[in-house]
Amino acid sequence: MRLLNQIHAHILTHPHLSPSTYAFSLSKILCFAAYRDVHYAKRLLFQIRCPNIFAYNTLIRGFLHHAPSAEPIFLFRRLIRSKFPPSNTFTLAFVFKSCSMLPALHEGRQVHKHAITSGLAGNSFVQTSLLNFYAKCEEVGLGRKVFDEMSDRNVVAWSAMIGGYARVGKVNEALEVFREMQKGGVKPDEVTMVSAISACAMAGALDLGKWLHMFIDKKGIKNDLEVSTALVNMYAKCGCIEKARAVFEAMPVRDAKAWSSMIVGFAITGMANEALEMFQRMGEAQVEPNHVTLIGVLSACAHGGLVAEGRKYWSSMLDCGMEPSMEHYGCMVDLFCRANKAEDAYEFVASMPVAPNPAIWRTLVVSFKKNKMFHKGEEVAKQLLQLEPHNAENYILLSSLYASASDWVKMSSVRRQMRERGIKAVPGCSSIEINGHVHEFVMGDWSHPEAKDITDFICEVSERVQASGHEPWIASVLQNVGNGEKLDALWEHSERLAIAYGLLKTKAPATIRVVKNLRVCEDCHEVTKTISKLYNREIIVRDRIRFHKFVDGVCSCQDFW
Ligand code: ZN
Ligand code: ZN
Repeated sequence: MRLLNQIHAHILTHPHLSPSTYAFSLSKILCFAAYRDVHYAKRLLFQIRCPNIFAYNTLIRGFLHHAPSAEPIFLFRRLIRSKFPPSNTFTLAFVFKSCSMLPALHEGRQVHKHAITSGLAGNSFVQTSLLNFYAKCEEVGLGRKVFDEMSDRNVVAWSAMIGGYARVGKVNEALEVFREMQKGGVKPDEVTMVSAISACAMAGALDLGKWLHMFIDKKGIKNDLEVSTALVNMYAKCGCIEKARAVFEAMPVRDAKAWSSMIVGFAITGMANEALEMFQRMGEAQVEPNHVTLIGVLSACAHGGLVAEGRKYWSSMLDCGMEPSMEHYGCMVDLFCRANKAEDAYEFVASMPVAPNPAIWRTLVVSFKKNKMFHKGEEVAKQLLQLEPHNAENYILLSSLYASASDWVKMSSVRRQMRERGIKAVPGCSSIEINGHVHEFVMGDWSHPEAKDITDFICEVSERVQASGHEPWIASVLQNVGNGEKLDALWEHSERLAIAYGLLKTKAPATIRVVKNLRVCEDCHEVTKTISKLYNREIIVRDRIRFHKFVDGVCSCQDFW
């Protein structure tokens, strides 16, 4: 940089240079500087009267290597306004990449329009980056449109499409693309495999994940660091922690990401000691922990009820100069709440230097409810309603708080408020994989082809569960209907449909694995515990945040989630 600065000074002190030589020299300096001091490079660009497209592209790319920022988009806007030089395929690819990193869907769509009008939208390089952008923004439908229009699909495009479906949990679609790709003679590489395995991790499709693992071994695809880490993550997220551990132990080298995947895996499975042991081994292996590692460590402490240890890791994290993110704060609040230390949690939240996010407030409300600190809960829940007046979750939380205090009048007034404001709850949706097919069940939806068998079976299960002495927690159903109807509605909860289908379609001792999009309700949690005992089955339910492993009438979450 010093040398570049000197040359720059030399140019400035030789005003007799012709304008074109001047511009050319500055552009050259800019290109060298773009990776070292991107802001200096940007100032240079503004000094050049007619910067060429190469200078623009280099600078945009320089910003991409930096932290995600809107700078590439600003530069692109400046470029368009100045009308000269025209952008080229590289410019567009870099800007799409920038939009996908932020992510900035709206801006990216504008750039897409520009690509069409400038006639560059048909270029395969541009298309691939556009597809990648839509996939990262979870606009998989738009991504698919781009993908279908592509005449020349390379392995990057295929991976982007697979990864796009992965992000939104559309496993079958992801695998269809995977098969199509093989049929088309495109050889899957490590990148494709990572995308496909991540798809399985997100949707909890263990059988397909296993199949991909076998595919890797059979086809001799390099089982490198990224692939192995994806496998560890997939097995852990699918509730196969021992498989995850086996893959992890077989890895010849492990980076922070690999260690973190294993630690987080143990944490979400509720194996706190194993997670902390792993963390110690990581330290011995002299791998620097990252943000994700600490999330794993703190949530392991939370899960194991290790409050003192959690505090210790928290302060050592601060001592190392690692700046806690909202997720870390969330783990600490969780730690206190799970240990029934609602007061400590409240104190911790009050001492936070940044404003807590709604998720943290919700954890607090749940804890207040559990500890019968009704008024504090009500106060925080009302604040939540103001903070996020359009989030159905907050209304449901407040009404369940009233329900737990048997305050039916206030409960129905919250429900009314919700209806009047036109707020709809996200329907519960659970999926289960049977023989390589993911079956999805939405609450109260009986469109499954085997609906009749499932209903009959559910009646049988419900009778057995009730005969065993289970008292349904009616307040879980927040509808103003008679008790009998409430009971029926409970048995329509999506996880029950999925579990019933699993019991119907698999034989003991196969584990039933269900993935749910929302939290598990109290009654379903109790019922699943009972079912695991009555039917002598291990049932694993992964809800939005964590795993519940039900064995012999007990859940691994120790009834706090
Ligand atoms: Zn339920
Ligand atoms: Zn549980």
